[in-house]
Amino acid sequence: MEKEKEILLEVKNLSKHFVVEKNFFGQPIKMLKAVDDVSFKIYKQEALGLVGESGCGKTTIGKMLANVHSATSGQIIYNGVDLAKLGERQRRAYCKDIQLVFQDPYESLNPRMSVGDIIAEPIRINKLLPNNEIEKRVNYLLNCVGLANHQRNRYPHEFSGGQRQRVGIARALAVQPKLIVCDEPVSALDVSIQAQVLNLLSDLKEEFGLTYLFIAHGLNVVKHISDRVGVMYLGKMQELADKKELYDNPTHPYTKALLSSTPVTNPKLKAKKERIILTGDVPSPINPPKGCPFHTRCYRDKVEKCTVERPAFVDVSGAEHFVACHLYKAYSQEVK
Ligand code: SF4
Repeated sequence: MEKEKEILLEVKNLSKHFVVEKNFFGQPIKMLKAVDDVSFKIYKQEALGLVGESGCGKTTIGKMLANVHSATSGQIIYNGVDLAKLGERQRRAYCKDIQLVFQDPYESLNPRMSVGDIIAEPIRINKLLPNNEIEKRVNYLLNCVGLANHQRNRYPHEFSGGQRQRVGIARALAVQPKLIVCDEPVSALDVSIQAQVLNLLSDLKEEFGLTYLFIAHGLNVVKHISDRVGVMYLGKMQELADKKELYDNPTHPYTKALLSSTPVTNPKLKAKKERIILTGDVPSPINPPKGCPFHTRCYRDKVEKCTVERPAFVDVSGAEHFVACHLYKAYSQEVK
């Protein structure tokens, strides 16, 4: 019998709206809806992939979980506590549990600190170990991410991009987090290095029983590492399912378009693959379209409802395959 999955963190109706313009009285008159009413769960020891084009809100979600941004509304339930409602001081107590690995390893490390100090800093700040045990722990963490003990005295500029990302991962691991938000951790790296860092993250997940929210641009990057995958568009979640289900039975037209653009190496499959080219630009999140957020680019036979009513995010299979499309029933029955 399959073991029941335990929820680590649950996001309910989460939104983040940034003020882009205020009137003479300082009241907001123009808002950018970076994330709008998004709900999902992250189970213990899973990797949840989150994909979508630039500006779809995936990074903003990661930053809200890691306390870089506060939420405008909604809930982030962790250990029975709504983190979104906590004040700055109370929230800091949970920062250790939710760490962020940044997209750009070049900018996320302090160039004036040695790598050993960068990794030791969060251990010291959180008083996790006595001073005389920190060096041993730093060496252990360096080894865990494939670096050598002697490299602890070097500075970030002496490392390659892939090595710097390894240092960023070691720093995140230093506080023994429960959840790591990996924000496009390989997109700034050479293609040849990307697979190495992805393999390292997979190995560390198994070794330390970690949970990831893995944010990436395309479905090809998250396929390797994720257990479930969510697809975002214009600040909203459009589809969320188990990885195999999403790749084998994509239901939302946007997911199908994204999947059609992923590279295929098998020549037989490549010949059969139909590429869906989306036309038009992604609408501005300052002035999102009414109804379905994807209707201005949807290539399917739409109905009037598509332009006036926002589709609900419903479980179409009874097995946590969520889709936000008025016509999902017709599309889910199509031969793939
Ligand atoms: Fe396309 Fe309508 Fe479905 Fe939106 S609701 S994805 S516009 S078919």
